[in-house]
Amino acid sequence: MKYKKLAEIYDELSSTTKRLEKIEILSKFLKEIGESDRDILYLLLGDIYPEHDEKKIGISSQLAIKAIAKSTGVTNSEVVNEWKSLGDLGKVAEKLKKQKRQSTLSQSNLTTEKVISNLRKLPEMEGKGTVEKKISLITELLTSASPLEALYLIRIVIGDLRIGLKSSTVRNAIAKAFFKEEEKKNAIEEIQNAYDMNPDLALVFELAKKGKRFSIELKAGKPIKVMLAQKANTIKDAFEKAGKPLAAEFKYDGFRMMINKKDGNITLYTRRLENVTNQFPDIVDVIKKHINGNSFIVDAEVIGYNPKTKKYVPFQAISQRIKRKYHVERLVKELPVEVKAFDIVYLNGKNIIKEPFEKRTEILKKIVKNERYKITTADQKITDSEKEVRDFYNKAIKDNQEGLILKNLKAPYKPGSRVGFMLKLKEELRDYDLVITGAEYGTGKRSGWMSSFILSCLGEKDGEFLEIGKVGTGIKEKFEEQEEKIGTSFHELTEMLKPLITKEHGKTVEVKPKVVVAVTYQEVQKSPNYNSGFALRFPRFTALREDKPLSEITTLNEIKKDYENQKKDFKYS
Ligand code: AMP
Repeated sequence: MKYKKLAEIYDELSSTTKRLEKIEILSKFLKEIGESDRDILYLLLGDIYPEHDEKKIGISSQLAIKAIAKSTGVTNSEVVNEWKSLGDLGKVAEKLKKQKRQSTLSQSNLTTEKVISNLRKLPEMEGKGTVEKKISLITELLTSASPLEALYLIRIVIGDLRIGLKSSTVRNAIAKAFFKEEEKKNAIEEIQNAYDMNPDLALVFELAKKGKRFSIELKAGKPIKVMLAQKANTIKDAFEKAGKPLAAEFKYDGFRMMINKKDGNITLYTRRLENVTNQFPDIVDVIKKHINGNSFIVDAEVIGYNPKTKKYVPFQAISQRIKRKYHVERLVKELPVEVKAFDIVYLNGKNIIKEPFEKRTEILKKIVKNERYKITTADQKITDSEKEVRDFYNKAIKDNQEGLILKNLKAPYKPGSRVGFMLKLKEELRDYDLVITGAEYGTGKRSGWMSSFILSCLGEKDGEFLEIGKVGTGIKEKFEEQEEKIGTSFHELTEMLKPLITKEHGKTVEVKPKVVVAVTYQEVQKSPNYNSGFALRFPRFTALREDKPLSEITTLNEIKKDYENQKKDFKYS
């Protein structure tokens, strides 16, 4: 397909913020394109593979600047100057292409296939001369692109498409395009289920286009979305929602892991569907020895403990294990972890996702060989007594865990959904997961580093992030070589954010919403200073939440509710 058509669709989509209009535009487009155009579904979200695939385009602004300069015949510093005034590299490419065009006026015949083929070569490249090769692959595309095509090409390349499109909107557009009005409601649910079981939009599109029902099968070896928990306000409320008796389990303060074994091969995924197998050779080893079965998908929480005292430690102490790809062996020793397995959805060729939780938990207990500090099934109590739940809750807190998860014994496993089959009961810890959308460079000993970070929550509209405060406390100064690296430093955060800068004004920068952080605070206040309408009192950084997708960060709605509930000052024990 002509890439021109896709560029026009991007343009149309970004001209409206209304979700229904976006769905309308997209559904028309999806009807027009063929099955063989399936990969365009990734491009629509600015990607080249399904969202869980590790192969990302990963091009920095610096590299993009060079490609723009090369393809438009200007110097790098001219591109940078334009960037400073326009604040968007895509717009810079568009402007410079327009200028160049007046002299060369050529017809663009770039195709989406060519775009995908070049972009897919980028993550594969390694070794000497890689940078030059990457620049020439992008330059090749830019050279044959029209100004509008160049605008979106550059935005895709640097991972900042800015058309406000979420995968859920694309799913709704697929339902609208391929199902009759009366079938639409069911279709949306079916598509959602299929997607959660196998999160690949191109596959979902292909099936819809073929008119096939969504009989996507659960398979070991592929990630599925995890089931999410709802909040219980009181123990009584939990019993009402989850039924009597229910299963109470410790809510471990770690991170979620989907453990996948297929024909003897183990793969580990985070809740963000990132493959983290290489970072956890210790877990791979434990799974091999301690879970019986040739193929399975087991859901678990991974928690850290102090190797000397054997006491469990909070999530922030081990968060760095998720991303660090070097010195893995050392980290395994310094920050050891234990797996707490709590669910299973697939075993030896059998899909057991629809079996009730009581049966799944029984199966799980049979195949896991418990050994403390390696793997055990979650501490569990099946009960119909409020008092027992309260006592169990206190026990969890004593064990340094966050509280309890209360589970409906009769319920199936629902991937990707925040359903009432799992309810969390935790102390009002007052913590949020927020995304960094801006920062300010420091002065004095912190000059050269960003030292204050603007935090945003998820808004109500598609792709909308609303500011709620700034954080600077809780972040470490630069680590010395030999120091124990617990926590996150200004230096590290700055390095993470630099490639995400989209605008600079003096000492402040705006950044793409990518870096999710956990923050504690004392109180939510109303505030005219931030566009969410709220501000946090005494926010404090606790950890990077690299395992959390943007779609799961704290929403404005939750903040509003917390603001209301604050006055009640509720406690469980
Ligand atoms: P939250 O992240 O606050 O929404 O709490 C839900 C999270 O608690 C899940 O996504 C898991 O990562 C974690 N968790 C800890 N222990 C358990 C457990 N026993 N069962 C289910 N989830 C658990």
